Amino acid sequence: MISIDELSIFAKKKGFVYPSTEIYGGMQGFFDYGPFGVELKNNIKSSWWKSFVQDRDDVHGLDGSLISSGKIWEASGHLANFADLLAECSKCGKNQRADHLVEDRLKIHADGLDAAALNKLIKENKIACQFCKGEFKEINSFNLMFPLQIGAEKTKESTAYLRGETAQMIFVNFKAVADSSRVKVPFGIAQIGKAFRNEISPRNFLFRTREFEQMELEFFTRKDEKCPFLDDSHLGQEFLFYSEEAQDQSKEHEQVSIKTMLEKKLLNEWHAYWLSFSFKWFLKLGIRQENLRVRQHLKKELSHYSSATFDIEYNFPFGWKEIHGNANRGQFDLTQHAKYSGKSMELFDEDTKEKLIPFVIEPSFGVDRAFLAVLYDAYSMRKDESGNEVVVLKFAPKVAPTKVAFFPLVNKLESKAREIYALFKEDFLSTFDRSGSIGRRYARADELGIPYCVTIDFETLEDGAVTVRDRDTMKQERVKIDSLKSYLQKNL
Ligand code: ATP
Repeated sequence: MISIDELSIFAKKKGFVYPSTEIYGGMQGFFDYGPFGVELKNNIKSSWWKSFVQDRDDVHGLDGSLISSGKIWEASGHLANFADLLAECSKCGKNQRADHLVEDRLKIHADGLDAAALNKLIKENKIACQFCKGEFKEINSFNLMFPLQIGAEKTKESTAYLRGETAQMIFVNFKAVADSSRVKVPFGIAQIGKAFRNEISPRNFLFRTREFEQMELEFFTRKDEKCPFLDDSHLGQEFLFYSEEAQDQSKEHEQVSIKTMLEKKLLNEWHAYWLSFSFKWFLKLGIRQENLRVRQHLKKELSHYSSATFDIEYNFPFGWKEIHGNANRGQFDLTQHAKYSGKSMELFDEDTKEKLIPFVIEPSFGVDRAFLAVLYDAYSMRKDESGNEVVVLKFAPKVAPTKVAFFPLVNKLESKAREIYALFKEDFLSTFDRSGSIGRRYARADELGIPYCVTIDFETLEDGAVTVRDRDTMKQERVKIDSLKSYLQKNL
């Protein structure tokens, strides 16, 4: 099993992800996506946008601003509550997240423990600073919002914030979308975009960063409304489930279906539907089901806005960790914004002829965590045709950054090969490689997860066919150039 640090080295070497600002010594918690990374990331985002917005009639898109008024974050509760607990060393001054410190040292689950409980654990277990062996100060709360000043004048009003989640831009635009798009409850508003959190200790490569991207849907329903889309394909969706009860009793996760969760009244119908829909989307990205599980939030760890949350977790080398949160936010955000702005957030319900403030289900995804899970899940080792150990990224074709690689067998065939490459380049994101042996070129393509390699040889000049090699089976077959497009379309 590759460690997350080894994966980050591989990702840098192959042009997926670079540490940001590296030539000036780097900045912890920030990353830049390289040529292959940006394609992979775009493919993940397009797949999400298509599934959650474009393929549906009931979800509308939005792209809100990154910098937003402090009033939004006051109303949403982020300025008061969006904080982590900070453990600061009294000797060297280094600080880290107190719950992570306790988790790392005591190997227990510390999510949701308050300052008093963490202080007690640190004292009782004599946990000292790992850098200088100093004692920790009393734990403090640290707000994760990034403030900034707008314009030259320094006033309370001129303090704005980089958004801590994309969701709030949806809530503050809720009435504007409802009024301009003739929507009817139930409906949703979705957004993909950057979010910023001043994390105390960013770590585990892309998993915890200070600037990241989210894909969020806020779905507005009537209270406990039935969901018409909850058919057998959703009800029968099974997954590993780590219930609150199992966590409390230190038991293992177990296989359950959405139907069982509904029967146990762990969530309502729309919540069940969106949890199942979100889980299926990760499967569509090609992530292996056994590496995914659903974890119910413990009551004590629920966010200030949520009455029930289920995370989808991925089995990373550093443990099962959240890559998606699916929360029942109820009326919290809309009523808060109505209260703080003085503007009504009510809609007129044509069916009941009454005004209503909808109830919200929120499937929330981190692009970078989805990227990390896809990359880690695809990473594998095998012996190539020459018996050498090589890395193969087994990306599902739809997310693979490059779909096809074209090779001339020898340099003499380059112009013919380029002619053929030009015919396909527009339809399939392709690359051309003329250097080294064919075996070496296959290995390079495998390391980038390119699903198909097409070799142009001397026979091509005679029979108008090329050799197509499949990344996963390593099988080769002759395909006529005339039918190569339909062959690739079918397989990709
Ligand atoms: P965590 O408990 O890991 O800090 P969270 O519960 O605060 O995460 P949410 O507020 O539910 O996260 O955010 C929704 C999604 O945004 C997460 O599921 C995750 O994919 C992504 N996300 C949140 N924080 C970060 C971060 N610091 N770096 C990268 N992605 C993040």
